[in-house]
Amino acid sequence: MRIYQRTISTWVQFSGIGLHTGMPSFARILPAAPDTGIMFRRTDNGAEIQASVENVVETAYATVLASGGARISTVEHFLAALYGMEIDNAVVEVDGPELPILDGSARQVAEAIDFVGTVESPVRRRFLWVSTNEKLQRNGSMVALAPSENFEVLVTVDFPGTLIGKQWLKFTLTPENFLKEIAPARTFVLREQIDALWKAGLAKGGSLENAIVVEGDKVLNADGLRFQNEFARHKLLDFIGDLALVSRPVRGFFLAVRPGHTVNRCLTEHLSGLAAPRSREPAVIAEEPVAISITA
Ligand SMILES: [Zn+2]
Repeated sequence: MRIYQRTISTWVQFSGIGLHTGMPSFARILPAAPDTGIMFRRTDNGAEIQASVENVVETAYATVLASGGARISTVEHFLAALYGMEIDNAVVEVDGPELPILDGSARQVAEAIDFVGTVESPVRRRFLWVSTNEKLQRNGSMVALAPSENFEVLVTVDFPGTLIGKQWLKFTLTPENFLKEIAPARTFVLREQIDALWKAGLAKGGSLENAIVVEGDKVLNADGLRFQNEFARHKLLDFIGDLALVSRPVRGFFLAVRPGHTVNRCLTEHLSGLAAPRSREPAVIAEEPVAISITA
């Protein structure tokens, strides 16, 4: 377990298009001082937005942060890459309202961090330890949490009647595991959802270059899948990206059943000690401990 805070050794840059705007987007990750956390900076208007659960304003189709009237969209895969690679401090610059979607995964960002390496500071990381057994439920999703020495997640997905079906994956976070097992997993969409997204003015930049498209029992991407359970792996990637908004390294075990950004946000708010101020209904937190027994 790494004890001291780390940042990236030098800047790395990425260009692509925004998934929802469809517009060109250029981003850079730069080193930052201890206790900066992850700070987004828009180079077009100078706005700075801390990657923190208090700044989350939307989670429906992408995680959107806002502060002081400025917004930044689709932060979850960059955040997952930084958290997964155990980067505590960094500035992420972007020249517009949305980060580039790249290939729909966190692979390029994680590989770039791995390539340039990291610098350790003498300042200790401020771990957040899960100390109780609890359960949160929202919209058919459930996350149970329990103490652990590691950051461990068991994720399940269930898309009946499609190629995805039921999948699961258990993962213990280390940068090496993240780079190999989680970062390459791409986002996915069901073919029948695409028209509704376009009608809502979303996913204008979406294509087979940056998402897996599933139609019934087929994958429409010519190259197929990167992993047989790539869908569960991407849900785990999103889970890590959303948990990153706790802004501290978390140690705990999480059982995430059909997770989505909404339940992940409830969890992040809960862990951050917030009372879900923007939610209409509070998260349901079980009073009795949840027994979790896993045989892998
Ligand atoms: Zn995602």
